[in-house]
This record gives sequence, structure tokens and C-alpha cells, in this order.
Amino acid sequence: MAALPTVVLVGRPNVGKSTLFNRLTQSRDALVADVPGLTRDRRYGQGRLGPRPYLVVDTAGFDPTSKEGITREMARQAEQAIREADVVLFLVDGRAGLTAHDRDIADYLRRLGRPVRLVVNKTEGMRQVMATAEFHALGLGEPMAISAAHGEGVRQMIAEVLADFPEDEEVAPPQDEDVPRVAVVGRPNVGKSTLINALLGEERLIAYDQPGTTRDAIEVPFVQGTRRYVLVDTAGVRRKGRVTEAVEKFSVIKTMQAVERANVAVLVLDATQEIADQDAHLGGFILEAGRALVVAVNKWDAVDDYRRSLVKTQLASKLGFLSFARTVFLSAAKGQGLAPLLKAVDEAYAAAFAKLPTPQLTRVLQELVKRQAPPRHGLFRPKPRYAHQGGGNPPVIVIHGNALEHLSKSYRRYLEHGFLEAFRLRGTPLKFEWRTSE
Ligand code: GDP
Ligand code: GDP
Repeated sequence: MAALPTVVLVGRPNVGKSTLFNRLTQSRDALVADVPGLTRDRRYGQGRLGPRPYLVVDTAGFDPTSKEGITREMARQAEQAIREADVVLFLVDGRAGLTAHDRDIADYLRRLGRPVRLVVNKTEGMRQVMATAEFHALGLGEPMAISAAHGEGVRQMIAEVLADFPEDEEVAPPQDEDVPRVAVVGRPNVGKSTLINALLGEERLIAYDQPGTTRDAIEVPFVQGTRRYVLVDTAGVRRKGRVTEAVEKFSVIKTMQAVERANVAVLVLDATQEIADQDAHLGGFILEAGRALVVAVNKWDAVDDYRRSLVKTQLASKLGFLSFARTVFLSAAKGQGLAPLLKAVDEAYAAAFAKLPTPQLTRVLQELVKRQAPPRHGLFRPKPRYAHQGGGNPPVIVIHGNALEHLSKSYRRYLEHGFLEAFRLRGTPLKFEWRTSE
């Protein structure tokens, strides 16, 4: 299975990276679009050009030329994303013009040696030649003019950028009967390698000592009892017999690619640490990708009761949008909680591929509508009528009716929750498609 092309956004503050990120990753039926609070501050996302998916990373908050104001770890991760990018979009501000800071970033990018495309933003109402003229001085080729805020030139720009990558490759994860493909993801030091090693057992490690580049996947099959699984992109698998090897560092892009290749993601959190923005970003990406999910709170052995209840409160407040997933508390180091983890993986996998018969779907829909009718929207009264299933991982529910584009977000969430409950689906998000008949 091929890796998705990865586009990384770089530029000084305020040139419009977040605005462009949001424009690239928003799609009408994106799952995250319906989650309040999550869209505000995303950093990793999936874009789509027609049917073609690609990955987008925003390095906002990371200034490669500044020496302060950001933790080293974040800077390191952003730099690594740039190094692993298929293409770097270097944004500049067509209204502010060329600045010394832009020149510094251009030099920095040249040193890293990745393919760079120069994008001049905020050019609405400007003549293209005028808007881009002075930026030729950066020596990064022909600048492309866009307006991220108004959406002008964005599609054409991304089409041009993606034209360099082979198309029509298989991108969806295989749906082998009954062998869940699992990605273990999480920020650095939460215990991913420890967990993977605990799951695999010593004797399995020896075969997987190739480092693996971003574009090829490592796959590690393993068996637990009678169940088979495949771990995908296990950067954390350690080389056997090497004590001092440099453990491969956390990589945002590898993480995103692993999630894309998996059926089920295990998002590992560290009970001894606060839940961080990055945990939420990863969770948001998994949700957006539509993958089934289990939240694994690791290092449960190392925290007292007070801390445990604090962690549970934080889970609800910061990762509330992942409440469709089961949470498992475990200790990878002590090998405790592995069986419940795999049970939750099985459950999530089953939910992701559940077959939802049309008559039941329609009955549940009609019951939900009867219990709570959709609110009017101006002159429109949305009316869902019947439903059928459109696919799996995540289950797609196609809803037919009238004026469905006027259904409020909160009503859509009500429906999602209702369907998940009615079919007792645990561990998968749902995706809706709306078919309005007039
Ligand atoms: P970032 O710091 O690079 O992520 O920049 P933001 O996306 O936060 O944008 C900085 C400011 O520029 C915001 O006030 C945006 O509304 C504005 N902005 C972004 N794109 C455009 C654009 O295409 N045209 C104009 N006029 N303003 C824009
Ligand atoms: P990764 O960067 O996510 O792969 O994290 P590692 O597996 O390298 O673990 C980071 C640190 O956490 C190491 O020092 C581990 O020994 C420690 N660790 C991992 N799992 C546990 C656990 O269940 N309990 C405790 N107390 N420590 C753990």
C-alpha cells in the first residue's frame, strides 16, 4: 500500500498557514467538521483533491529561524516533518511583501534540501505578476499566487503540487477478513515501544530491524491466543541485541501514514503527564481519518488514586470528542492490561466493519426523529426519511430525506450518538452522507 503524499506548511507567523491548512483540510462531510473545539487548533489533517487524498501538516508556532519561544521538542518535530515532507509549501505574505525573515526561512529550507514550492498568500484583488514579482528574489522558483482566506488559486496550486506524485495507488487499508491492522500511536515517551514489545514478545523482534523510510511500511504480524493481528509502521520496534541503538524518534508524518494504513488506532497516553495539545491533535487526526480507536492510558502502575481520578477528569474535558472510543488503563512495562486492550481492539474492529441492515437503520432513524424532530432552519424543515449503509471503517450511513443540508451540527451529533447506541457500536466513528431529494 502506497503512502499518501505529504504537504508541510512553513512560513513566518501571520502569513496565513492556519487559514490555508483549514481550507485544505475542510471538506463538506469531514468527520471533524462536526466536532466543536477541535477544528480550531488542528495541525495534522487530510486534504482531498477530487477523490485524491493527501496529508497536510501545519508547522504553525514553529519558527525555524528563532532561537526561543518554543520547546525544543516541538521545534525538533517540526523540522523532522519538513525533512520527511514530500513537498514543503513555503508561504509568504503578498501584502506585507518580502521580509528579512522570509529570506532566513528560505535559506533554512534550502539547507534541508526538500522540494519547496513558494506560495504567495493574501493576493486577492492584486494582479498576479505584481503580487509575486519581488519573491523571485528568494531563488525558490516561480511563486504561486493564492488567497487562502478567499479560496482563490488554492485548488490550482495544490493540483500543481500533487501533479508530481503518482496517482491511482491503493490508499485504503486492506480489509482482510478478521485480521485487524493496528497502529500504535502517541507522542514521544508515552510508552509505545514498550507496549509494542510487550504485545509482540521477545522472539518476534528479530526480523524487523530495517529502519524503514517514510514511504515504505513496516508490518509486523502477531498472534494472541487464537487471534491474529498486524501492527503497522511500528517505528518503536527495537532491534534485538542492540543495547545502545538510537530509538527512532517520534515522527508526525510516520504517525499519520500509520493511521492511514490501519483499521484500528491505539492512541497511547501517559498517565504521569498532563494530557497535551499534541494528544488531542493526534486524536483529531485519527477521527478525521475515520479509523476505529482505542485510547490506552499507559503507566497506570506509576500513579496514585488522586492522579488517577485527575487523569479521568482530563480525558473527559480534553478528549471528550473521542468518547466513542473505549479507554483502557494499562501498564506496558509490567505487561498489565494487555488482554483488555486487545479485547477493545477486537470490539472496535468489529464495530468498524459492522453490517447495518437497511430496515433496522431506517427504523432507528425514524425513532430518533420521532423522539426529537430536527429544528427548523429558516423556511426549511429538514426531514430525514430513510437510511442505508454505504461502507465500512468507518461505517458510512447514507441518509435520504428533504432539506438535509439544513440539519444543524448538534442534530447530526444527536443522530450519530443515537445510531452508535442503537447498534451498540463501540470504538468507531460514523460517517454520514446526505441525499436530499429536492
Ligand atoms: P499563520 O500564523 O501563518 O497561521 O496565519 P493565520 O492563518 O493565522 O493568518 C494570519 C492573518 O492573516 C489572519 O488574520 C488571517 O485572517 C489573515 N489571512 C489569511 N489568509 C489571508 C488571505 O488570503 N488574505 C487576507 N487578506 N488575509 C488573510
Ligand atoms: P515511546 O517513545 O512512546 O516509544 O516510549 P518508550 O516505550 O520508549 O517509553 C518511554 C519511557 O516510559 C521509558 O523509560 C519506559 O521505561 C517508560 N514506560 C513505558 N511504559 C511504562 C509503564 O507502563 N509504566 C512505567 N512506570 N513506565 C513505563
